[in-house]
Amino acid sequence: MVVAEADGRVVQNSVGYCCRGDGARLLSEVIRIRGRLADLQVFEETRGLKVGDQVEFRDEMLSATLGPGLLGQIYDGLQNPLPLLAAETGYFLKAGMYLKALPTDRPWDFTPAVEAGATVQAGDTLGTVPEGIFQHRIMVPLGWTGQLKIAKIAPAGPLTIDKEVAVLTDSAGQMRPVTMQQRWPVKRALNISRRRHMPREPLVTGVRIIDSMFPIVRGGTYCVPGPFGAGKTVLQQITAKFAEIDIVVIAACGERAGEVVETLRTFPELDDPRTGRSLMERTIIICNTSAMPVAAREASVYTAVTLAEYYRQMGLAVLLLADSTSRWAQAMREVSGRLEEIPGEEAFPAYLESRIANFYERAGEIELRDGRTGSVTIGGAVSPAGGNFEEPVTQGTLKVVGAFLGLSRTRSDARRYPAIDPLDSWSKYVGIIDPAKVERMRAVLSRGAEVKQMMAVVGQEGTSIDDFTVMLKAEFFDNCYLQQNAFDKVDAATPAARQQFVFDKMLEVIDLDFGFADKELARQTLVAAQDLFRNWNYAAWGSEEFKKLLGQIDAFIAARGK
Ligand code: ADP
Ligand code: MG
Repeated sequence: MVVAEADGRVVQNSVGYCCRGDGARLLSEVIRIRGRLADLQVFEETRGLKVGDQVEFRDEMLSATLGPGLLGQIYDGLQNPLPLLAAETGYFLKAGMYLKALPTDRPWDFTPAVEAGATVQAGDTLGTVPEGIFQHRIMVPLGWTGQLKIAKIAPAGPLTIDKEVAVLTDSAGQMRPVTMQQRWPVKRALNISRRRHMPREPLVTGVRIIDSMFPIVRGGTYCVPGPFGAGKTVLQQITAKFAEIDIVVIAACGERAGEVVETLRTFPELDDPRTGRSLMERTIIICNTSAMPVAAREASVYTAVTLAEYYRQMGLAVLLLADSTSRWAQAMREVSGRLEEIPGEEAFPAYLESRIANFYERAGEIELRDGRTGSVTIGGAVSPAGGNFEEPVTQGTLKVVGAFLGLSRTRSDARRYPAIDPLDSWSKYVGIIDPAKVERMRAVLSRGAEVKQMMAVVGQEGTSIDDFTVMLKAEFFDNCYLQQNAFDKVDAATPAARQQFVFDKMLEVIDLDFGFADKELARQTLVAAQDLFRNWNYAAWGSEEFKKLLGQIDAFIAARGK
């Protein structure tokens, strides 16, 4: 942190460059103003800065660059393209090195969507360029106000992002040139819309325990707390790959360098089930390791959500995955400590909860001015120390999110993946399965867990056959439905229609009144059911094998039904 004495006016949250003796200019943000003194949070190592060095203040807040070419990028929190940065400076990143976020030499095939003379407003489409599998909309700069008139619009053809694409006349009669790139302050929510929808359209992820039991919705929020190694990152990859959304933004925030490298290595290798090409073509990764300065870590979360909001303005469905928000909160704690603010619980700042709330509030489904909708769904991983969910970050997150997918150490140790706890987790959303049916299943699961606990004390002999059967039914549902093999081609993701069909079949088995004579027979029977349903999971939806197994399952049910 740096304290600077300002000659002129300095605005809270504006940026400044601290000029080091050797000429390096270090980006920083004004985080507090006291009279003529400005406290600056520097996004770099401050080593080498000396008392008396100059600070150049800018009349701009920390902002993201928006435009075609964002997809497929891997950025740091300040939107430096990391692969380029590494190529320029080698393995160790150099302080004060900032690169253009978007390539300026790449031509984009522009198609105009408006004609000269038309009246437009911020966010309206001026034209489009193809970016990956999408039409990237070139929009009237999102921060401009009032009605504007098109004075000039570029004809169809290739254009680079810094070339003039249109000239607009504002209400004062001033001519204002527009290019394909624009900037937006990352800490301000970007939402230009006719209205905000109540998020309720299920966002199918292909993960059965999520979609069927603890659903998430487009424009909604959820959190995935879990101890180290419980499967947060694998779950993130599966949802990124199979969730029914257009664009994925990953904020790999301050995890250990090894884990970030893992994300960077595995992501480009993931193939997109929609196109068969690399998933990176519709992904943006913002990453910071815990070795990078804390301030940049804090910025990365805001940069990521701003990029997500930008694509939402185009009418696309975006999924933002933040891994992990605990590291982001730690960055907040460090900065707060340096400001010598009065600490709250566990030394986190008192405003921790409101910052968390503000972040998740940026999710949402919006209706654009022309009636199309776009959404940003936010899923945040939380990595509480020792898996203790009582700590402030988890608790602050639970107050604001719509669904809680808690990963359990017991389940991951037992290799019951995905290790989402079916008893502790919850969702306020309605998904693809009738809530009454979900409730029935939950009752079986919790009764089963009770019996299991009781049985640990009184033994199998002391357990009634009815209780024993409930326990077996719960195990059956857990083994064949809640658990899912992320590494099997078919089982990795289950489409909504299949989930609904299989869930109903499961209920038919659960509802059977077996009336077993003894526990051994009960066990054998449910193991047989389990084998059938497990094999069924590996058979492609609608295939011959699928139908054959369905026949056997129906025969199983008919033989035991009354
Ligand atoms: P975290 O990010 O919570 O620290 P990871 O996502 O890296 O944990 O998971 C740790 C390991 O657990 C993985 O390397 C993998 O072997 C196993 N694992 C996690 N989720 C699954 C899953 N859904 N299916 C199979 N194995 C899994
Ligand atoms: Mg991880």
